[in-house]
Amino acid sequence: MAKSKYSMHYCAYCHKETKMEVVGGPNADGQPGGTDAKMWYRCTRCKHSALLDRDTSQRKAVDEKLDRGAATEYSATKVFSVGQTIYHSEWDDLGRVVAKIKTSSGVQAIAVSFEKHGDRKLIENLATEPLHEHPTQP
Ligand SMILES: [Zn+2]
Repeated sequence: MAKSKYSMHYCAYCHKETKMEVVGGPNADGQPGGTDAKMWYRCTRCKHSALLDRDTSQRKAVDEKLDRGAATEYSATKVFSVGQTIYHSEWDDLGRVVAKIKTSSGVQAIAVSFEKHGDRKLIENLATEPLHEHPTQP
């Protein structure tokens, strides 16, 4: 395979690996930092564009289908690591952690690429105690 601006990626519209054309870097996402490893790709079959992980590592040969059995169920109180597969029970969706985010308020979050819901940001490592106390009046 010669160097080209085409590469094989899983297309959520075609539901299979397709040849995709590199369109460019991310600029739709206004968040500074965190998503630099992503690029816009356009499927040559259905012409849909998708923001996908750039081919930075050759370690992973194929972006394999996410495995429900190997996924960790998402909970805001848990801590996740980049590359981990998670399952969001409310959405019934599998996703992979692509980045760790620290919000300005100090809350930890993860950027997750979901199969059905696409790129989402989720809270992690949330303290179990409530944020605001509600003192009970007698
Ligand atoms: Zn497609």
